[in-house]
Formats: sequence, C-alpha cells, structure tokens
Amino acid sequence: MFDKTERFYIDGAFIPASGPRRLDLVTPSRAGEVVAKVAIAEPHEVERAVSAAKAAFPAWSATTVAERKAALERIVAAYQNRKNELAEAMSMEMGAPVSLARGAQYGAGLGHLTDFARSIEQVQWREVRGEGDAWVLRREPVGVAVLITPWNWPLNQIALKVGAALAAGCTMVLKPSENAPLSAQIFAEAVHEAGLPKGVFNLVQGDGVGVGRMLSEHPDVDLVSLTGSTRAGGEVMRSGAAGIKRIKLELGGKGANIVFADCDVRAAVRHGAQVMFRNTGQSCNAPSRLLVERGALADAVDEARKAAEAVRVGDPASQDTQMGPLVNETQFRRVVGLIRRGVEEGARLVAGGAEPIVGLADGFYVRPTVFADVDNDMTVAREEIFGPVMCIIPFDTEEEAVAIANDTPYGLAAYCSTSDPERIARLARQLRSGMVRFNGTDLPFGSPFGGYKQSGIGREGGIWGIEDFLEIKAVSGALA
Ligand code: NAD
Repeated sequence: MFDKTERFYIDGAFIPASGPRRLDLVTPSRAGEVVAKVAIAEPHEVERAVSAAKAAFPAWSATTVAERKAALERIVAAYQNRKNELAEAMSMEMGAPVSLARGAQYGAGLGHLTDFARSIEQVQWREVRGEGDAWVLRREPVGVAVLITPWNWPLNQIALKVGAALAAGCTMVLKPSENAPLSAQIFAEAVHEAGLPKGVFNLVQGDGVGVGRMLSEHPDVDLVSLTGSTRAGGEVMRSGAAGIKRIKLELGGKGANIVFADCDVRAAVRHGAQVMFRNTGQSCNAPSRLLVERGALADAVDEARKAAEAVRVGDPASQDTQMGPLVNETQFRRVVGLIRRGVEEGARLVAGGAEPIVGLADGFYVRPTVFADVDNDMTVAREEIFGPVMCIIPFDTEEEAVAIANDTPYGLAAYCSTSDPERIARLARQLRSGMVRFNGTDLPFGSPFGGYKQSGIGREGGIWGIEDFLEIKAVSGALA
C-alpha cells in the first residue's frame, strides 16, 4: 500500500488530510488490487492552499529571473534524485511499462523542467519601445494559478505546468489526476527539497467535479491551466467565466498520419504504429488515423497488422513489456466498446479486437488493434478512443488527404511521410493543427505544445509555456 496519498502539501509542509473521504486507487495490471487510498481535499483545505498561494505571490513575483532559474535548477536536481521512485509510482498508478516509465515518462518531466531553466532567460521580460518618448513593455506573472493535470503522462504534464508557472513568477495550487496521485506526491517531495519559499507551490488531491471545480471557481485564483478531456476543458471555462479567469487548456486529439506512396511506406507505417501503441494509445497526440495513398494501401495494411501483432503486451513490471494495460476499468470498457462499434459500423478488423488476451484477463489489457477500410465518418475515426486502436483510411489525392486530416473537431498533432519537399511545404501550411511532424522527426523540448480548434487554448513548453502565465503591461512616461 502506498501511504503518501492521504496528505496534501500546503504552505511549505505536508499535512495529513483532515476529512474522511477517500478514493480507491486500483493498479491497472491487477484489477481489484487497491494500492492506495487517495484523500479528497475538504473545502477548508482548498481554501488554505489558495490563501497560501495568494500570500506567497507578492514576494515570489518580485524575485529575479536568476533566483527563479536557480530554484528550477534545484528542482531538476531533486527530481533526478527521485528517478526510481517516480518511475515506479507511474508504473503502479497508470500501468506504464517500467521501461517507458523510466524512459520517456520520467524523461519528459526532466526535459521540460531543464528547458524552463534555459527558456526563462529568453523571455523578453522588459522591452523599451518607441523612440524619443520611449515606453516600456513589461511582462509580469498573472497571479495565483491552479494547475489541473491528467493521468496519462503524469510528470510530463506536471512539469509543463509547474515549471512554467514558477518561471513566470506565479504561485500555484496543483491538483493532479485522482488516477495518478502517487507520482505527484513524490514530485511534491522533490519541490520541497528544492526549498522554495512557503506557499509558492501547493498540492491538493481530489476529483474533478468536486475539488477541481472548487479551485476553478475560487475568486482568488487568476488562472486555471488544465490538461484533460474536452469535456473537462469546457467545464473549467464555465467555472472560470464569472471571474474572467485566464483559462489555458490542453485537450484531446485525433491525429492524422498521412503516408504518401512516394516514401518508404513500410518504414513510415511501422514507425506510426509504434508511436500509436506507445503508452497503450493513451496520448493526446497519438497518430490514431493512418491516412494512406491508395496505391500503397495493401503494403500499409500488411505492415500495420505486423506491427500490431509484434507488440509485446504484458505486466508493466516486466522489463520485456512494451505495452501495459489501460489505466482503469472505465477506460477499458470505453475502449472495448469502441472497438465493437468499429466492427458494427463496417470497419475491417486486421489486428487485435475486443476479446480479452489469454493469460492477462486480470488487468485492463486490450489488444493492439488495427482497422482498415475506415471511413472518416465512422465513430472510430471521429472519437478520441484513447486506447491502442489505429484506423486506416485510404485517399486518392493530396487535397483529399488534407481535407480528411482536417475533418475533425480536434487539431493537436498531425504527421506526414513523403519524399517531396514541395508537398512538405504545402502540407505544413494547410494542416490545421498545433504541431506537424514530417518523416518521423520529433519536436525537441522547448517547442510549443498545444492545439487548434477543440484541442485547446494556449501552448505549453519553452518560452511560449512561460508566456501563458504572464500578463503584458505597457508603461509610458517613465522607464519602468
Ligand atoms: P479528465 O478530463 O477526466 O481529467 C483531467 C483532469 O481534470 C483531472 O485532474 C480531473 O480531476 C480534472 N477535472 C475533470 N473534470 C473537471 C472539472 N469539471 N473541473 C475541474 N477539473 C476537472 O481527463 P483524463 O481522463 O485524466 O485525461 C485524458 C484526456 O486528457 C484525454 O482526452 C486526452 O486527450 C487529454 N490530454 C491532453 C493532452 C494535451 O496536451 N492536449 C495531454 C494529455 C492528455
């Protein structure tokens, strides 16, 4: 039993939860095994956390860039010291295989925090504008920020928000996902070790509609940054509306991966499938719609099937496992239901399916699944499945490919493989999404991450992530 989830971190100290309410945290590889009791904050604890952040704001917002950079560097060092605990916590709470937890999951948090310690120096904190009667542009922290994170890349999201808010000079209350509180508690210990002033960073736990809403509605909160579902994003916008709060959202996606016949089709499909099935398909930027030029369709379907069948699904604790279970029973039922729906709507199942995996019926495991002959109007092509399900959609022309890729309410990440540089230039402009990756090239830490349309508002990472936590002040008549 993990015993750190019955406490909160408020005003520089870990305090035991005062109320009786608990949520059971079940480890996804062994359905029914409760590994932690997750305390839900009472209203007075939410109040204490917000007022601690409010009280800490004047001093923290007045610190120098060098002081905040040093604080970020201390957090990076403390985070690195906790590598094993952080990875084990993520593996236990959301089922990431240990190799992924120690690799990309842990690494994403480290990469973002390290980058913020660099990017803080690139923000234009103060600019003198105009000639003669000069005026000055100042960038200043927004105030008290509420940070609400999901469970799928737990430390990635926490680092993107906490790192940016600290760099900006905001004080904050973090509410991690009720499905991923273990890694968040260890992260809070690392922040504590880094020795920030009391009240700058606070953590409370709880559910979204209860504690998340209380925080988003709180009159002393100036900004809410949420990563999660489009549903939760809409609710937070409504909660923050009365107080005209700054709302920053990173929401869902239904990424298109366009493969043209002029590239190495098998290599492109194999790479796309690996990205799709990583983290059991539970990534907002997953390339879940594979758009293939018709001439290359047979090869693409064959390669996608092989890639899905080659994925080693199993216990997250095993070094050999490439894909673990889904996070919980709700997600399991939803994904299995959507796979069945795909079959009913006439998509052709070429790998995987809704049946349980022999020997793994104890956990929330699903098969890496590939549908061919998918029409972009089918439910499996429209809804974010958030599981290891890839849909292959054929196209005949470049214009049609762009139209299908953009025909979604989301606009987070798009992918494309082609050897034609002019086509790359055209598609880079035409795809309506916050990120476009060509020929398997990753975006580095420090790039802006975020989406068009219903994928969100704002950008996380690098200087853009910090700017989301800043106001702009124009000052005339004095060189302030
Ligand atoms: P979720 O929306 O259920 O929960 C996300 C967080 O929001 C949790 O902490 C939850 O407690 C909180 N929350 C829920 N309702 C709330 C409300 N009314 N008020 C305040 N807080 C509320 O999402 P999830 O299941 O944890 O995560 C999966 C979703 O997150 C997917 O849709 C995925 O695409 C999205 N996601 C997006 C990004 C991105 O950067 N765009 C990254 C990761 C995940």
